[in-house]
Amino acid sequence: MSKKIFIDFKRCIACKACEVACEMEHGEARIRVFEFPDLTSVAFNCRHCEKAPCMEVCPVNALSKDDDGAVVLDPLKCIGCLMCGLACPFGIPKIDEYNKIMDKCDLCAHRRAEGKLPACVSACPTEALKYGDINDVLWAREGKIVAELKDIGDRTNVLEAYLIR
Ligand code: SF4
Ligand code: SF4
Repeated sequence: MSKKIFIDFKRCIACKACEVACEMEHGEARIRVFEFPDLTSVAFNCRHCEKAPCMEVCPVNALSKDDDGAVVLDPLKCIGCLMCGLACPFGIPKIDEYNKIMDKCDLCAHRRAEGKLPACVSACPTEALKYGDINDVLWAREGKIVAELKDIGDRTNVLEAYLIR
């Protein structure tokens, strides 16, 4: 099963708690919050592509998919050639200037191994970030919307009126 972090743009309030949590976990933030003039904001991290261009160009197979579908880097194999950074359509892999090897989001592999959520997901106060399989995330959101509609319906008969139309 391939799991990812799903981003609900409407919920992001640009508080940057995700960036701070990521920096505390990895020394440098691997997720970025982009803010736009119309006051919308978007948190963005590695998409862990199904057919990841970064993996395809790596000459030493330093990038691979783990059991959850996360694209993870083997620091012992990486030779810092920068090819993955060039191939990524989002420019995600960044060079670690100190160690001269690449650094990228691994969906907090060490936390997942302990059954925890990625740090950014745990830190988000508005649930703008959700981690899981796409079907589970969609079902959870759908279930919440249906529950809210039902609550309104129970109080106002609006849902019933809507359903029998
Ligand atoms: S680093 Fe870029 S190309 Fe590789 S999986 Fe992440 S988003 Fe895709
Ligand atoms: S920088 Fe490292 S991970 Fe990226 S393509 Fe080169 S060897 Fe592979």
